[in-house]
Amino acid sequence: ASPALLMRVVASAYSVAEKAATLVRNVMSAGDLGIVEKAGPNDLQTKADRLVQMSICASLARKFPKVTIIGEEELPTDDLIEAEDLIEDGHCEEILKKPCPAQYTGIKEEELVIWVDPLDGTKEYTEGLLDHVTVLIGIAYGGKAIAGVINQPYYNYEAGANAVLGRTIWGVLGMGAFGFQLTEAPAGKHIVVTTRSHSSALVNECITALNPDAVIRVGGAGNKIIQLIEGKASAYVFASPGCKKWDTCAPEAILHAVGGKITDIHGNPFQYNKEVKHMNSAGVLATLRNYDYYASRIPNTVKESLVP
Ligand code: AMP
Ligand code: MG
Ligand code: MG
Repeated sequence: ASPALLMRVVASAYSVAEKAATLVRNVMSAGDLGIVEKAGPNDLQTKADRLVQMSICASLARKFPKVTIIGEEELPTDDLIEAEDLIEDGHCEEILKKPCPAQYTGIKEEELVIWVDPLDGTKEYTEGLLDHVTVLIGIAYGGKAIAGVINQPYYNYEAGANAVLGRTIWGVLGMGAFGFQLTEAPAGKHIVVTTRSHSSALVNECITALNPDAVIRVGGAGNKIIQLIEGKASAYVFASPGCKKWDTCAPEAILHAVGGKITDIHGNPFQYNKEVKHMNSAGVLATLRNYDYYASRIPNTVKESLVP
């Protein structure tokens, strides 16, 4: 029997994300980032965001024409002309060999929604904080994030010239997540990871109320979920609107695949059907373990300021 659609999509998304990572590195080494401000100076788009979105969307649409694909960047339709050198048609053979979880074997193309953040952590990318950057491809079915690929193009970049640069993490609900070593945060310590470039009084008020042992401020939603699954932080707390569905879909699938939990600041799950509004208006709360500890300590004043 041929592999289930979901596994073919994940296997292709894996290769498409690796191609994306090459584009992210090539734009940086060429030196002309082509920075455009979207809503303002903290909401940027670079040539890498644009090229990668074209590459991911065109590559996946060609293979899976009936799947709904929603990408972060609004691109002029002229730019959408499929440049052949942006198309990736490969797939990861190892993923294709794995059995699809039974509950997903009957999924049809028109039932999938793919949320694409071509470059998460753009602000940090423009500032040279390269390991904060990820490429996010999240796959949703029935409004739920069920599979995801996170590529970190500059993983290992501080290890020197001989180190292998970049890695791809992927996961499917009911199957697990791969491409990293699952590690728990230090027991009994409360280490909160949050935004570096989108702080506000409310963001900080919420963190202070949690009375953490340490606060890590780094860019990227993808990067922050990696901090959780590798035991660097015990909770990702972001009491602010600003994060979108393409930021959380792939990270959510991977975090849930290893037993973690991500919700808005009220504890509501995110929905990923194609009609949903893009903004995660009520913030983000995510943990690998001990979700209830953090959820029970979010102040009501913070909750009242963030309407879902
Ligand atoms: P951060 O943790 O600041 O890197 O944010 C995670 C994701 O949400 C990134 O893709 C940001 O671009 C996005 N984001 C968060 N807050 C804002 C904001 N105030 N304006 C625009 N994008 C935001
Ligand atoms: Mg993003
Ligand atoms: Mg982005």
